[in-house]
Amino acid sequence: MHDVIIIGAGPAGLSTAFWCDDLRLDTLVLEHAEQVGGQLHRVYNPIENYLGLKARNGQELLEHFTKDVDSADFDLWTQVDIESVDLRARRISLRSGEDLQSIAIVIEPELDQENWECRARKSLSARE
Ligand SMILES: Cc1cc2nc3c(=O)[nH]c(=O)nc-3n(C[C@H](O)[C@H](O)[C@H](O)COP(=O)(O)OP(=O)(O)OC[C@H]3O[C@@H](n4cnc5c(N)ncnc54)[C@H](O)[C@@H]3O)c2cc1C
Repeated sequence: MHDVIIIGAGPAGLSTAFWCDDLRLDTLVLEHAEQVGGQLHRVYNPIENYLGLKARNGQELLEHFTKDVDSADFDLWTQVDIESVDLRARRISLRSGEDLQSIAIVIEPELDQENWECRARKSLSARE
């Protein structure tokens, strides 16, 4: 049982993970891709709108964001395939067959209508 499971290790997921770490929560980040960083891998323009931080491109910004990942306490799993998310039960099932339980689930990626996270959100709000 984790305190928090965060889906997606883009800027939003990583920043949430560091915050949870500061709060001493047992935190697990699940990332579908091989690497963390999300859309930053596709940003080739200078990034100048982050407060106090300018970067030549997404890769440079990602280096800033990840420099403390190794010393952080949260767990980070990459190349994870999520089968389903049950928000009511706070349970995540992986395609590998593993079931994960958490007090809170944070879903960071923006998703299209066909994705399971959206279906999970819809079914949850329909019941409320
Ligand atoms: C070309 C380009 C230029 C940009 N320029 C700027 C700029 O100048 N300034 C600026 O502020 N922003 C810029 N952005 C936008 C910025 O990159 C995004 O706002 C930011 O990356 C969003 O972060 P995020 O963590 O919300 O989502 P993402 O970066 O999209 O990260 C989501 C993560 O979730 C993972 N994921 C998705 N589905 C699953 C799943 N089912 N299971 C597990 N993991 C999953 C993805 O692999 C990804 O790692 C630009 C974006 C692009 C593409």
